[in-house]
Amino acid sequence: MEKTEQEVTVETKPCAICGERGKVTVPMRSYLLWCDGLLIQDAMPNTPRADREQLMTGIHGRCFDAAFYEEETSEEDYEEELGL
Ligand SMILES: [Zn+2]
Repeated sequence: MEKTEQEVTVETKPCAICGERGKVTVPMRSYLLWCDGLLIQDAMPNTPRADREQLMTGIHGRCFDAAFYEEETSEEDYEEELGL
């Protein structure tokens, strides 16, 4: 018999960066532990940090990366800014 862990898909708060809600799927047991007040990193140590972050804040991993590690400005935009 296959041993599959029950999972729960949680709708997260609107993302502070893009405004969209998201969904994170985590093990049911971990989720219940977290709801019980356990620290999220203790409740779901195998869940990627980005997913835990999204559960707590609603901010998507990709939005977080985009906001804090800004893509290099394209050369065209740069020249436009300089009025070239
Ligand atoms: Zn987002």
